[in-house]
Amino acid sequence: MTRNSAGELLEILRDFKGYLGWQRERGLLGLSVSRKEELAARIVGKVAEEELLFSSRPPDLEKIRKRIGDCRRCKLWENRKNIVFGIGNEKADLVFVGEGPGAEEDEAGEPFVGRAGQLLTRIIESIDLKRDQVYICNIIKCRPPQNRNPQSDEIEACEPFLAAQLQAISPKLICALGTFAAQTLLKSSSPISALRGRFHAHRGIPLLATFHPAYLLRNPPEKKKVWEDMKMLKQAYDRLRNPSS
Ligand code: SF4
Repeated sequence: MTRNSAGELLEILRDFKGYLGWQRERGLLGLSVSRKEELAARIVGKVAEEELLFSSRPPDLEKIRKRIGDCRRCKLWENRKNIVFGIGNEKADLVFVGEGPGAEEDEAGEPFVGRAGQLLTRIIESIDLKRDQVYICNIIKCRPPQNRNPQSDEIEACEPFLAAQLQAISPKLICALGTFAAQTLLKSSSPISALRGRFHAHRGIPLLATFHPAYLLRNPPEKKKVWEDMKMLKQAYDRLRNPSS
């Protein structure tokens, strides 16, 4: 698909999705409309991913953020205050990927700023790095209502933006925080307890999965497992920086 044809197809699909939403709001079509909307969102997501990848090589984060715009590709736009794109070193060797924004992140427009964020800062410092040396983002960019888990159609709609972010940053290591980040990046349905503690790969990039800081706040005894995971991450990071060590 060429860049132009991908862009045109994307516009048509967005119009189609908007039209289905309009019909659903007015009760003009039956229950199957939600299924059609879901399908349209999936197609839009896939074409958006392709378009983003075509639009610049490699894509840069500023352009990706502009392309997200005032995104309405999934229903999470309805209750968000801010799109929480990501923050940190745009050339980071290490990217942390969490689940989605909470209330404080939604308010601030920045990922991991609440109590879980403070714990993530300590986790990053435990491997002798500062927060601004890494990049931090989430699987989904808008806060789910009442901090519920993200749903599969929302993850699918938002995933192309994460894919483009990772392509732009081109990290050498990824740390997936929690079930949804690990399962999405690894295309796995295994629980985080089975995925953590070892390296996997996401598109050829070594990926370590560990528990989400918010989970650790609720289950402090699990912190020791994360410290063990961080030792592995630090070893891998140090080897990157100094391959002869
Ligand atoms: S979660 Fe992602 S796909 Fe959904 S509205 Fe927000 S930015 Fe768009």
